[in-house]
Amino acid sequence: MSKDIIKKSDQVIAKTYKRFPIAIARGNGCTLWDTEGRSYTDFVAGIAVCNLGHAHPRISKALSRQADTLFHVSNLYYTVPQIELASWLTENSFADRVFFCNSGAEANEAAIKLVRKYFKEKGESDRYRIISMEKSFHGRTMATLSATGQDKIKKGFEPVLEGFDFVPFNDIDALRNKISRFTCAVLIEPIQGEGGVCYPDSGYLKAVRQTCDETGTLLIFDEIQTGIGRTGKLFAYEHFGLEPDIMTLAKALGNGLPIGAMLAKEHVSEAFGPGAHASTFGGTPVVTAASLEVVKVLTGENVIGNCLKVGAYFKERLSWLKDRHESIVDVRGIGLLLGMKLKIEGDPVVTSCMEKGFLINCIQGNILRFIPPLIIGKEDIDALVACLDEILD
Ligand SMILES: *Cc1c(COP(=O)(O)O)cnc(C)c1O
Repeated sequence: MSKDIIKKSDQVIAKTYKRFPIAIARGNGCTLWDTEGRSYTDFVAGIAVCNLGHAHPRISKALSRQADTLFHVSNLYYTVPQIELASWLTENSFADRVFFCNSGAEANEAAIKLVRKYFKEKGESDRYRIISMEKSFHGRTMATLSATGQDKIKKGFEPVLEGFDFVPFNDIDALRNKISRFTCAVLIEPIQGEGGVCYPDSGYLKAVRQTCDETGTLLIFDEIQTGIGRTGKLFAYEHFGLEPDIMTLAKALGNGLPIGAMLAKEHVSEAFGPGAHASTFGGTPVVTAASLEVVKVLTGENVIGNCLKVGAYFKERLSWLKDRHESIVDVRGIGLLLGMKLKIEGDPVVTSCMEKGFLINCIQGNILRFIPPLIIGKEDIDALVACLDEILD
């Protein structure tokens, strides 16, 4: 059955994705089943998306209730779920206003447009350049790939958009040297995800905030991967004792439904007046009703507390593995955004894990990334660690 599905896919789907040779049919909690009936413990969560696991009954119910009521009317009219979700997000973050869209790239696209517009409105038309980080990832649209600090993402699509500068992550002097009177914003993932689960040095993000304050530059945190509880706090910035001016969210915000959001402080958000930016599907009732339930479950059922506790345990077990295997270079990350760098290629390890019933992910060729649903239990972690121990032998 899988074979037929894979063959058909090869004929009709654009060739942009390199996939593993399984077709997933069903999920529940942290378990997935393929079309052959084989089960897998999911340490990928749809790339840090399904933070509440699969087929969560409360999310399904909120979704179907709204689907029976109203799908879509456009942003020509007010709809209640959108307002409720925005209220929840602003009450639980630094931000005052929310712009809804449908993906991470779109959220960053909105942020890029907003910071340019902000300085245009202030009469500082020259101030349009954005500094982002080497190894960063901000999306695949033309503006967001231009903002991304990885050549492989841009290759073949040149010329990229003008106005982006890059400095190494964790290098505050490089940032200070690069900021000029043309810089409107610094765009940064507080913990780099796709780049290899790179954690900021102590004091680095505070120094970034301070540099922005001294120069009147806006600070954008891309929390598309780190937000919505992934790091053991609702938003990663809470770990570092500072606030950005703008934050982008997507991935886990809908637990799998497509939603993106760009949050900003009032004085920044003001630059977006009527007609400045828009999205047909942005904040549509079905998606925002489900997403509101996502954030309520996340906080109401102490899912984030579990993430912090289980994440610390997981990291400790990975460090134990590191002591036993020459092939492991280091273990990094926080909460349930964990990375393990290898001296060897990561893909064969991922394939072996899959054959033994565990889905894990590899980035940058040799960094295993562990991003399970935040409801994962210690038993599942123990089972994966035993499996990795065997494979790395
Ligand atoms: C996934 C991701 C994006 C892009 O999100 P899409 O929904 O795929 O457009 C942007 N930034 C970060 C940090 C991400 O992890």
